[in-house]
Amino acid sequence: MRIVGPLIDLHCHIDLYPEPESIIYECKKRNIYVLSVTTTPKAWRGTTALLNDCPRIKAALGLHPQLAHQRSQELILFEELSNETMYVGEIGLDGSKEFRAHIDVQKRVFKKILQICASSGGRILSIHSRGAANDVLDELEAHPNSGKPILHWFSGNYQELKRAMDIGCWFSVGPAMLRSKKGSEITSRIPRDKILTESDGPFAKMNKKSLTPLDMPKAVEILAQLWGEPIEAVNDRLLNSFRNLLAD
Ligand SMILES: [Zn+2]
Repeated sequence: MRIVGPLIDLHCHIDLYPEPESIIYECKKRNIYVLSVTTTPKAWRGTTALLNDCPRIKAALGLHPQLAHQRSQELILFEELSNETMYVGEIGLDGSKEFRAHIDVQKRVFKKILQICASSGGRILSIHSRGAANDVLDELEAHPNSGKPILHWFSGNYQELKRAMDIGCWFSVGPAMLRSKKGSEITSRIPRDKILTESDGPFAKMNKKSLTPLDMPKAVEILAQLWGEPIEAVNDRLLNSFRNLLAD
């Protein structure tokens, strides 16, 4: 089914596709709102240049937790650039096996970023929390003025989920997450008005193909099934939530 209204992709790495220009062209044609998160402050200038004439596509300033141990010196640049945008991401913590060894430097970087956000009046934050949901929530609680946190592809347990909901987190979910049993169970426990859609492309894949913002109709369709709501109603709900997220 073709979805007529605007679509939202709140977590996508547009600069990391082999041909970002063609993705941007299609997003413009299709009126898709995209938050293009970055993984290092050094990527900020290039990404914003790519998105120069796209009012619906915004770049977020980020320092990915999986790169924190190699890029912590870029915190200085992060701070310098922090007044150029309302959007921050991808940031967070990664406690999975591969990255747990660097959790201390990740925490130092994440804390510093939240402090910078708080001192600039708060930002919209796209947050990675794989294997470290409680640690992420500890930091968010410690920095209540850092802004509006959106937990992207949340994969914590139900206790962590409850805690995240209690502190008012938002959640962005995509086709890859929604297709998994755990992902769809988590999504069904989140208040519908706190959910937004994401692709997490090009990292997230379906049928071995990188997802893109153009796959957002799939996320809307799966949510419609999960919620037992018509597709149009889901689309309206998502747009409303998006407006609420952006409102003060
Ligand atoms: Zn990502």
